[in-house]
Amino acid sequence: MEVKLLACTGLAEGTPPVPGCTEADSVIIYAVSQCYQAKPQPGMIRNCFERGHHSVFEHVHFSFAVHGISRACLAQLTRHRLASYTVESQRYCDYTKKPAGFVWPDTIEGGTAKKYRALLEQAMTCYHELRAAGVPPEDARFVLPQATAVNLVFTMNARELFHCFDLRLDRHAQWEIRRLFARVLQLVRERAPLTFAAYADRKEEL
Ligand SMILES: Cc1cc2nc3c(=O)[nH]c(=O)nc-3n(C[C@H](O)[C@H](O)[C@H](O)COP(=O)(O)OP(=O)(O)OC[C@H]3O[C@@H](n4cnc5c(N)ncnc54)[C@H](O)[C@@H]3O)c2cc1C
Repeated sequence: MEVKLLACTGLAEGTPPVPGCTEADSVIIYAVSQCYQAKPQPGMIRNCFERGHHSVFEHVHFSFAVHGISRACLAQLTRHRLASYTVESQRYCDYTKKPAGFVWPDTIEGGTAKKYRALLEQAMTCYHELRAAGVPPEDARFVLPQATAVNLVFTMNARELFHCFDLRLDRHAQWEIRRLFARVLQLVRERAPLTFAAYADRKEEL
């Protein structure tokens, strides 16, 4: 799996960042300062987070390019509705031209690895046979397993990310989506350190 930050909300030309803050944190601070006709201050972020004034965190969006997660992981990710998704299409991508990749869980090893590999190969052989017989990609894909790797771009605002981190970084969440959101957290902390430090510190207190 590879996760890259593709885009992040920043300031328009001519709007300086709040001193000592990144552009993404500054957008949130400027929004908060409107509420109180107050001078923009870095401490406003933590204050809002602690008081539950979380709508201000909707002003900053992050777009991620994700490569090589399984369709099983995709199904979990796209349950989060306050987001936008653009996903590699199995209707239009023809895996006889560019072979499909597969995600391999660590728990499948030894004797089970042999069976798993055989099944993936069988699925691909069947896909090729269907395509050769004139079945379109949108129907041939029915034989592809949940392990099939997919690429996508998704966008979420900081508030929805807090919610996803709550659910998907929990130890009960599935390993692949945990890995995805662990990487997402690393990326957003670089761009909005005050926002996500306020979130992380609060989580540790609870
Ligand atoms: C450990 C775990 C196990 C799971 N197991 C299953 C399972 O077995 N089967 C299954 O089907 N799903 C399962 N899920 C998925 C889960 O039910 C949710 O669909 C998914 O986590 C998205 O969360 P959400 O609905 O809170 O969030 P989002 O869609 O991200 O929405 C964010 C928040 O917005 C609000 N919101 C969004 N839409 C509405 C709405 N229509 N009405 C009211 N409020 C709304 C809610 O407050 C919601 O929490 C599981 C999730 C986890 C984390």
